[in-house]
Amino acid sequence: MSEQNSLLSVAIPSPLRRPFDYLPPKGQLASEIPAGMRVLVPFGCQTRVGVVLGTVTSSSISADKLKRVKRCLDDTPVFGTDLVKLLRWASQYYQHPVGEVFSTALPALLRTEQLAKVQGKKTWCLTEAGRGVEPDSLKRAPLQQALLKAMHEAGKMEMADLSAISENWRPAMTRLVEQGFVLINEETLIPEVPDTPRVGPELNSEQRAARIAIIEGMGKFQTYLLDGVTGSGKTAVYLEVIEQLLEKGQQVLVMVPEIGLTPQLVERFRQQLRVPVTVMHSGLTDHERLAAWSLARHGQAGVIIGTRSAVFTPIPKLGLIIIDEEHDASFKQQDGFRYSARDLAILRARDAGIPIMLGSATPSLESLYNCQQGRYRHLILPERAGEAEPPVIRVIDVRKQPMDSLISVGLRQRMREHLADEGQVLLFLNRRGFAPMLICHDCGWVSQCDRCDSRMTLHQRIERLRCHHCDREQAIPEQCPACGGDDLRSFGYGTERIEQALQQQFPDVSVLRIDRDTTRRKGSMQQLLDRVHSGEGQIMLGTQMLAKGHHFPNVTLVGILDADYGLYSIDLRASERMAQLIMQVAGRAGRAEKAGEVLIQTHHPDHPLLRTLIQQGYAACAEGLLEDRQQSLWPPYSYLAMLRAESTDKAAPMAFLEAAVAMAGNNIQGCELLGPIASPMERRAGRYRAQILIQAEQRQALQALLGPWLAQLEGMKTSRKVRWSIDVDPVELF
Ligand code: ADP
Ligand code: ZN
Ligand code: ZN
Repeated sequence: MSEQNSLLSVAIPSPLRRPFDYLPPKGQLASEIPAGMRVLVPFGCQTRVGVVLGTVTSSSISADKLKRVKRCLDDTPVFGTDLVKLLRWASQYYQHPVGEVFSTALPALLRTEQLAKVQGKKTWCLTEAGRGVEPDSLKRAPLQQALLKAMHEAGKMEMADLSAISENWRPAMTRLVEQGFVLINEETLIPEVPDTPRVGPELNSEQRAARIAIIEGMGKFQTYLLDGVTGSGKTAVYLEVIEQLLEKGQQVLVMVPEIGLTPQLVERFRQQLRVPVTVMHSGLTDHERLAAWSLARHGQAGVIIGTRSAVFTPIPKLGLIIIDEEHDASFKQQDGFRYSARDLAILRARDAGIPIMLGSATPSLESLYNCQQGRYRHLILPERAGEAEPPVIRVIDVRKQPMDSLISVGLRQRMREHLADEGQVLLFLNRRGFAPMLICHDCGWVSQCDRCDSRMTLHQRIERLRCHHCDREQAIPEQCPACGGDDLRSFGYGTERIEQALQQQFPDVSVLRIDRDTTRRKGSMQQLLDRVHSGEGQIMLGTQMLAKGHHFPNVTLVGILDADYGLYSIDLRASERMAQLIMQVAGRAGRAEKAGEVLIQTHHPDHPLLRTLIQQGYAACAEGLLEDRQQSLWPPYSYLAMLRAESTDKAAPMAFLEAAVAMAGNNIQGCELLGPIASPMERRAGRYRAQILIQAEQRQALQALLGPWLAQLEGMKTSRKVRWSIDVDPVELF
């Protein structure tokens, strides 16, 4: 055992933070097994799939207790050294167990013993010769006869059809193939490439400048921020830059927010590019996902478009990374391994020595700050591309105004005018359901969720009360559960209620509601979008789902029904989010030759955020918000981590966090612990929650505290009474 590097360090999914040591498989040396290889290992009394991190010389485990790796699962490592390094770094930085980090990064099928190989579906078809053969002429080979007969009827067959005829169909089928009667077709998994790719628009001078800047930077690391209003032609720039890279035989990774990965976007890429474009998102089956992953890994996909977890895809000839809508919160994973895909992508680009382009109409304050600091290169597309005019944004002061279901007289008037001009109208309200609560007019009872500190939303169409925080639901009570009275009233407005009101106010106009409730079924979003594009829908009403990624060229009026919601929130990012949301929604108006109008209803028309946003635009607004952050020393002027704990026992989270503070003791140089406090929504899904916010002016100080501290917490007795987690660079502060 004294031999150098004789052991393998293996990442195995388990709540423990450390890797595990193993002897190499029988007959092999540890040094023969490269990092990134999947291996099958005994673990306790089970067998697990792990990933080799590297070799080690000695182990804290005594020699007689060391176990052997059973075998390697693939011929070659699933992760190259680049990804092994990135994932190990991420495990440390985000303070998440290394085994779970590696496991998260693998397509689900590869977390099992499944081979990292995919095969397209096979079909067996009759050839011309086969069609000419009478099955009866094969009487002496009854199984061949049966197969041929079935194929005469069906034309072609799949594996399952053949197995249904006989379990032992293979030898007979092989004979039929050898005689030239049957042909095997293997479905190709490689997406089609157009014969004549569509040609993009001629770039304007700003777009050209951006393209040139990035192309000149090829082959070295640099982060670019492509900052351009919606419709300024960012995607057109991406496509031209990508074409250049593809000509050199390189691959490109394009990351988009979950909700931004629309069929239109994918179609646009597939129609303009001469290479297979593969797509990775959460809607794929495990097999489809493995297939897409595999095309990327073998260099067969020129472009990989994916959501958050696509950042972990092996891409051997990676030449460029693009992150569209880089400000979007969905790039941060909110549970388990809480990584930021945007930040990891930048790190990946740096290690690979390639450029990375972040694009947004409303860049995050972090990215704007990095531009100010000279770390990112700021490329600005100030205007809409082509002939498109910018929308006119106005505030409607709704104070003392008569309102009918959140629609002011002024807004209704403009809606009528736009509809009369054959424009489409888009209304935005970030609350789904019919009404946010049910209230008893006799005694004041409200529809409280009994598992959360929150009210249950009334969903009238399905006649249920539903909690949007824990998904608990129940029938709508006929009588008040408290006093037995029967005067139960809905209070407040959600999209479902506005939809009903619109149908009354605009009886001849078709209204489409687009929110989580109307898009639950697979394909339903696409159906709704098709109805928008065909012009069948005249008024669209939706939640923030509608704010992202969609092109609605015929929408000329956008109404934001309630802007007050985001103006006064305790969340440090609420103002930034609100400004982004307003600009993103506004970006849907008048994209083509029709100028658009955006009306924002508010009780606070003089709110400084709204004023700056409307009079001077997003950039000025963001600059003001950054100054606020600097004054109060919030990110990006400091670094945060959040330690959360939850339990069904009310006292346990606080007790654990207080013990944690005591444990940290004097090891908190350069950090400040804010808390513990009860979380803003203390009870959710039946669990009580508390938190400590850790703030530091230097990243290093935060990291220096977290590593050793969490290792101690793991061993603490009270830690077993709660579920706890750490969130480094949190985007949600509760
Ligand atoms: P973004 O990604 O910034 O929202 P897109 O690239 O989708 O912008 O462009 C918006 C629309 O403008 C698209 O229909 C696109 O084809 C068109 N477009 C982009 N650049 C130009 C240009 N230079 N000239 C004319 N039309 C353009
Ligand atoms: Zn009552
Ligand atoms: Zn609830």
